[in-house]
Amino acid sequence: MTHGSGPPTIAQALASAHALGLDRLDAQWLLGHVLQQGSAWLISHDDQPLAAADAQAFAALCQRRAAGEPLAYLVGQAGFHGLVLRVTPDVLVPRPDTETLVDWALDLLPTLPPAPSGLQPRGRPQVLDLGTGSGAIALAVAHRQVAALVTATDLSPAALAVAQANARVLGLALRWAQGAWWQALPPDTRFDLVLSNPPYIAAGDPHLPALRHEPQLALTPGGDGLGALRQIVAGAPAHMQPGGWLLLEHGWDQAAAVAQLLAAAGFSDIAHRADLAGHPRCTGGRWPGPNKQ
Ligand code: GLN
Repeated sequence: MTHGSGPPTIAQALASAHALGLDRLDAQWLLGHVLQQGSAWLISHDDQPLAAADAQAFAALCQRRAAGEPLAYLVGQAGFHGLVLRVTPDVLVPRPDTETLVDWALDLLPTLPPAPSGLQPRGRPQVLDLGTGSGAIALAVAHRQVAALVTATDLSPAALAVAQANARVLGLALRWAQGAWWQALPPDTRFDLVLSNPPYIAAGDPHLPALRHEPQLALTPGGDGLGALRQIVAGAPAHMQPGGWLLLEHGWDQAAAVAQLLAAAGFSDIAHRADLAGHPRCTGGRWPGPNKQ
């Protein structure tokens, strides 16, 4: 659609974004971001002309989207498990598949920690998210399970700053630690539930070029893609409470390898959960303890 020499109307701007190859919803999000309006407003005002500066800003965002930048970076936010999270190129864009890991954690949490025998009340479960990025997993768990004491780590100080900003906006209090996997934590800290969505894409995987706008640190450990998962499982026995669970997200074809790592490290009750596409996307195990439920 052409719109002569003047600035386009909202409808015309959206149509030219679509002609550029943008998904209609992405175009609506981008224009809504420029105008600070929701999609209902856009639709009901679609014959309104854009101010020249807005038309220019929108066209620039459309070019970047067409060149492959994730929508979440362009609008600065992403939805995850019912929360709106701030995201920047310092963090991986939260994926709907990772909600599988959160759902599994929320299913297990009411069973943790193992109830002490007798009349003692249950303590607050200690939850850990290793490599938290935007904070998606840690914040979703803390939001849904207020009794949980959630600690989140990341190697990247810039990522931790994004996660902490998200926690502030959501009014959630978490503990934070910077460092590589378990090295972020004092040696004697133990957890009832450990969660991680580590980098797991193998070096040279054909999907990597399409993910070039996201931090490579969060996507690939290099090699066969299992390096970070190996490090997490290897360090876990020193940090698990008896009866605690370790749940890991991994690649669609890594479930058997991760199950093997968990079994070799001494975990029991090893199980998988499928993602939205039906791939076994998460694998977890229980650290042996006296209070099996
Ligand atoms: N699930 C992401 C993807 O395939 C990868 C995330 C990760 O490596 N942890 O795009």
